[in-house]
Amino acid sequence: MRTEFILSAAAAIQQAILASESELESLDREIGDGDHFINMKRGSAAIVDMRSELADLSPDAALQKIGMKLLSTIGGASGPLLASFFMAMAKTAKERETDSLAGIAAAFAAGVDAVKQRGKADVGEKTMLDVLIPVANRFQTLTATDASRDEIFAALKDAAQAGMLSTRDLVATKGRASFLGERAIGHIDPGAKSCQVMIATVCDLALDRH
Ligand code: ADP
Ligand code: MG
Repeated sequence: MRTEFILSAAAAIQQAILASESELESLDREIGDGDHFINMKRGSAAIVDMRSELADLSPDAALQKIGMKLLSTIGGASGPLLASFFMAMAKTAKERETDSLAGIAAAFAAGVDAVKQRGKADVGEKTMLDVLIPVANRFQTLTATDASRDEIFAALKDAAQAGMLSTRDLVATKGRASFLGERAIGHIDPGAKSCQVMIATVCDLALDRH
């Protein structure tokens, strides 16, 4: 993993979040308080604005700074959760090599574990973790096989999509949507959608780089 890639990913994510405005807005209006798009827009813009500050840092130091920035800019439930993802990913990236996809998969999984702990949540609770956990698992499984780079990133996009869609039929047991009980059924979780958008964007970027 290179810092240059992290900066390109941040710029691509900002564009992808902006392009998902109407969907993210309406999902959080349906089962939340309507602020998820604004939160994600503010967070992604803050990271893109930091690019000159991040450019000379090692990848792990850049990820740590990104986490700290998200903590102070996103707000809501998703701010501290995404911040802990990046800070835990930074810690693992510092401790081990991230030149291989297996190393990146381990750092990603550490980030997802931090979200689980911070959110006290797991798969099946209609949150961003319904996307993050299956993607982390698939990433680690595939990097331990001889699957090609293209196969891995295509599979991660599929796992993110399937996880995002799985939230539609779930009752929420965490976050604001949990107050709605059965009324949340039929609506995709906004945090799952934004994570799917971010993961698909980063996979597309990785697939472009051969
Ligand atoms: P808020 O809920 O405070 O308005 P956002 O709208 O930005 O914050 O984010 C809502 C998203 O956060 C939800 O769609 C869900 O994916 C995620 N979320 C909320 N609570 C948790 C939790 N305990 N664990 C994991 N994800 C959560
Ligand atoms: Mg909200």
